[in-house]
Amino acid sequence: MNWDEYSDWGSRISQWAAEYHKTLRERPVRAQTAPGDIAAQLPEMPPEGGEDMDIIMSDFERIVMPGITHWQHPRFFAYFPANAAPPSMLAEMLVSTIAAQCMLWQTSPAATEMETVILDWLRQAIGLPAGFAGVIQDSASSATLAAVLTMRERALNWQGNQKGLSGQPRLRVYCSAEVHTSVDRAIWIAGIGQDNLVRIPIAGRLRGMDPAALKVAIEKDIAQGHCPAGVITCTGGTGTGACDDLDAMIAIAKSYDLYAHVDAAWAGAAMICPEFRKLWSGVEKADSIVFNPHKWLGAQFDCSAHFLRNPDTLVRTLAIQPEYLKTHGHDGLINYSEWSVPLGRRFRALKLWFLIRSYGLEGLRNRIRNHVIWAEGLCERLEQNDDFEIVTRPVLSLFTFKLRGRNDQVQIDYVNNINDDGRIYITQTRVDGQIAIRFQVGQFDATKTDVDFAHDVLVQMAGR
Ligand SMILES: *Cc1c(COP(=O)(O)O)cnc(C)c1O
Repeated sequence: MNWDEYSDWGSRISQWAAEYHKTLRERPVRAQTAPGDIAAQLPEMPPEGGEDMDIIMSDFERIVMPGITHWQHPRFFAYFPANAAPPSMLAEMLVSTIAAQCMLWQTSPAATEMETVILDWLRQAIGLPAGFAGVIQDSASSATLAAVLTMRERALNWQGNQKGLSGQPRLRVYCSAEVHTSVDRAIWIAGIGQDNLVRIPIAGRLRGMDPAALKVAIEKDIAQGHCPAGVITCTGGTGTGACDDLDAMIAIAKSYDLYAHVDAAWAGAAMICPEFRKLWSGVEKADSIVFNPHKWLGAQFDCSAHFLRNPDTLVRTLAIQPEYLKTHGHDGLINYSEWSVPLGRRFRALKLWFLIRSYGLEGLRNRIRNHVIWAEGLCERLEQNDDFEIVTRPVLSLFTFKLRGRNDQVQIDYVNNINDDGRIYITQTRVDGQIAIRFQVGQFDATKTDVDFAHDVLVQMAGR
């Protein structure tokens, strides 16, 4: 392809993109294909000769699009959102055009310097005190892995990377059962082992760890000669939006000199609104915090903001400097590849710069506030309807409910029927062992009409 053809196709695809977004409501939200449908339409062998872009593009429409679940559909109420606001999409087009590899300062100074400045914008936006340094990770899972590796190294007096874990005291990490599975995987990958991830019972409406139980668990481990390393708390857990009492939990962690990490992957975006910050009060005492602007805030995936009280402990855990990565004569520069597990990194700060400038914090706050109000409104309407029962009340824009008096299988069938119907998309979770249906409002283009529409679909499908 020559660059004139590229330019022509670029314009056509950009028009296609606008049309796609404008007509999303006409499509079923979740893909309606059966397993294997798409693979069956792809040739088993690669072509020997080149093919025309016209044919490739029409196959894209014919084969690929029916197998897409539309995450940017305004009636997407499943999981958590993965918003891609249009300015962030445009920034990603520029980033993929430049295609720079931003592992070191000198491999693209603009990417590094913008990342430093924009993460400090974000720090201010979510109300963290000065002194926290930020870095963009590909995902919250990577940030949490980095936190677990740091707590491991810190607890082992920086000997784990060198000596391995055999012969070391048994490391222990504490969290509730409400945290995301990325915590389990971080524990596996860090070599700490699932058996040493200690689940602390929860208490209260926000389903946070019970402080007394955390203390008892730490004391018991110390008495047995184990090595407590850290506490992983959550603000806005995945199932029901559980929030630990950060003030209490981090105070306990600190009293035993443990590392404290906060996973606010979804809920962190809401902290741009000061009135929601009570959900994570005490966060300023954490050692690290992760929040995903690629969820609710509107920055195209992937973009995970990782804030550190002291980046030196992270760099001491992860930095490795073979000769070819040394930036000679430039001491004190930040090489962000030393702050993350992968070496290579994309220029991710640009989409945050485009996004925040284009809407302003106030524009982004309005969306989040509306989503919260609409979710609360829908929850109230369902509560007044005898067919439904609220299981957990809204935490920000997420609540769970069920069909009143029906067993788990009926709830699952109901969710599947709704998703096969395709007008809206929802998912289920388990709360205290039983199936509950999750509903979250968060798609960037969603309107109150879309949420009212969802109400009507939920009621209508319950009547079947
Ligand atoms: C989505 C989510 C994660 C995982 O995020 P990735 O960026 O996909 O790794 C972790 N924790 C919570 C609370 C989440 O909602």
